[in-house]
Amino acid sequence: MYKLAIIGYGGMGCWHHKNIQEKIPQIHVKGANDIRPELEEKARENGIYFYKSPEEIWEDPEVDIVTIATPNNFHNDLVIQSLRMGKHVICEKPAALNTTELQEMVGTASDTGNLFSVHQNRRWDKDFVTIKSILEQKLIGEPYYIESRVQGSRRSLHGWRSYKVNGGGMVYDWGVHLIDQILSMTNSPLVNVQSHLFRIFSEEVDDNFKVLLRFENGLSALVEIATNCFINQPRWYISCKEGTAVIEDWDCNGKIVKLSEETKMEWDNDIIYTSAGPTRTMAPRPAYTTTEIPLPIVETDWTNYYKNIVEAIEGRAELIVNGQQILRTMRAIDAIFQSDRECTAISCRI
Ligand code: NAD
Repeated sequence: MYKLAIIGYGGMGCWHHKNIQEKIPQIHVKGANDIRPELEEKARENGIYFYKSPEEIWEDPEVDIVTIATPNNFHNDLVIQSLRMGKHVICEKPAALNTTELQEMVGTASDTGNLFSVHQNRRWDKDFVTIKSILEQKLIGEPYYIESRVQGSRRSLHGWRSYKVNGGGMVYDWGVHLIDQILSMTNSPLVNVQSHLFRIFSEEVDDNFKVLLRFENGLSALVEIATNCFINQPRWYISCKEGTAVIEDWDCNGKIVKLSEETKMEWDNDIIYTSAGPTRTMAPRPAYTTTEIPLPIVETDWTNYYKNIVEAIEGRAELIVNGQQILRTMRAIDAIFQSDRECTAISCRI
């Protein structure tokens, strides 16, 4: 049984506690630390010890794993100290605010031989796993364009997320999930990044963004976050050579429309009069040439993240969210900020 302590016992820190306690029998949450002393009572009510400081955790020989769930700007120091004090470390996303910081963290993990991973739990989201399944099974052939977006309408960023000093803003908050998902779909190098970050109502940080990623193999992806959106677009829109797939929402409503097998479409020689005007190219396709099929059913659970951590510590599996991948995502995020700052597309090889 591994013993785990949490630094930062707020929204996500409490979630880690509950999730591990309910679903991961190999890990026991021993305690938590938070700069807010009033959380001692909450920790006690939840049946765990309240550490007075991160140092008290580091000096506790019983603690094997430290999960860090503070605002983003505190991650770097806490990760590095925890690793140096001999602990395995799970850090909330984004682990760092830039590639230089993250390299230091990944390097410290490698020097100390301790496990270091970032909680990219959205690799196990049902919608994302469904998209991966469509692509892996080649249900509609090779993808050439992917749209991934999350849209809300609350028009404000919660708490520390609206401050630059804390590593706030939507690129660091949701962007890191969506970029990580797209990058984990392809090993093809990311060769071009173009972004537009908006500050519609936030004074310091991006509250909406649009990013276009181009890969060497010809795939492009549009990644969007909106917090000022009142008519939502689909969560995923996938264009492949043999069809189109759409996932509308978090409940995975959606469909696939693919070309019917063995059905060749006859072209009319005469111009066709359509609602769009006279056209052949944009005239509707005869219904018999396409088939609608349901989205594949997939089983997935965020818990698989921690299951993999246990297996990786015991040498029974490779770490799924590993240093190389998180560095790749961070480099892409650096390029996103650079593209917006310089108002230009960034050529890269990531
Ligand atoms: P939160 O504000 O709810 O909680 C943060 C907690 O950290 C607070 O209780 C605060 O008092 C404490 N804290 C601040 N500085 C500290 C320090 N130096 N030492 C100890 N404790 C400190 O924030 P949150 O929503 O829980 O976000 C925390 C982290 O989790 C962020 O990195 C965020 O990006 C991440 N997060 C991840 C997901 C996910 O799905 N993976 C979802 C939400 C948040």
